[in-house]
Amino acid sequence: MATPIAEFTHEGLRLLGSSLAGEETFIVAPELNLAFDMGRAQREVLSVDHVFLTHGHMDHAAGIAYYFSQRMFIDNQPGHLYAPTPLVEPIRRLLRDWADIDGHEPPANIHPAEPGQDIPLRRDLVIRPFEVNHPCRRRDRQTVHALGYTAIEVRQKLIDEYQNLSGPQLVELKRQGVQITRRLEIPLVTYCGDTAVGDFLALDFVRTSKILLLECTFVEAEHRDRARAGCHVHVTDLPALLPRLDNEKIVLIHLSRRTAIAAAKALLRRELGDSFGDRITFFMEHRRRGPRARPVEPDADD
Ligand SMILES: [Zn+2]
Ligand SMILES: [Zn+2]
Repeated sequence: MATPIAEFTHEGLRLLGSSLAGEETFIVAPELNLAFDMGRAQREVLSVDHVFLTHGHMDHAAGIAYYFSQRMFIDNQPGHLYAPTPLVEPIRRLLRDWADIDGHEPPANIHPAEPGQDIPLRRDLVIRPFEVNHPCRRRDRQTVHALGYTAIEVRQKLIDEYQNLSGPQLVELKRQGVQITRRLEIPLVTYCGDTAVGDFLALDFVRTSKILLLECTFVEAEHRDRARAGCHVHVTDLPALLPRLDNEKIVLIHLSRRTAIAAAKALLRRELGDSFGDRITFFMEHRRRGPRARPVEPDADD
């Protein structure tokens, strides 16, 4: 069953996607031409050229082969997938193995993503990966650390001391090789994927992103141990965390289908009081369409 699509917009930045623990998670920013995670590669994901994968759990990564295959089928450019470095070779292998089943190996651009190494998408946009707190064991027992990603707008701002100069004066300074601008970074949206609370939340570009997409898989009191075991956030983690964050909007993702949004909101309000108002919201509150919820027990490992 397709998961319902939600849509959330803040200051002109539109986020489309779906996020239900253990089932499917992906967030598309159409205007930035990118998606965070793949889910099952629903239509919204197929239309963007860049997908940033946080980790290999099936609810985030299932659509990889389908994405590249459909991009070929609808005559789009192959698209680019960025993934934690240890996953790059297994993903290439997956596409080759799928070709043994399907008969076609679609063209694919797969790139390693490393914490702290910016990925330029446009002249005015970079994606910065960072390590989160959601270690995953591969079959060969190697631990792969999940990544989060921040989309950062980059502007060149005129240095203060040159503010009052005329156009021709500035052109002349530039001609002389004087650096008249400085780089200004505006973190637009941070996507943390699956993760427990961790040091990454103190990173400046994460803490000050206009929008922070943070998972909150568990809200029921009896699920605290499951949150710890699976490296997920529990709603009771939030009161200590939120005062340290400067994000304009904090959008909670990865809640399980078995928890009704209204109940989750009530538990969130009980933890936080009313002080956070509409600064904090559940992504799936903003559902655009979709079938009625069906209770499913989340898997703490996803
Ligand atoms: Zn997950
Ligand atoms: Zn996971």
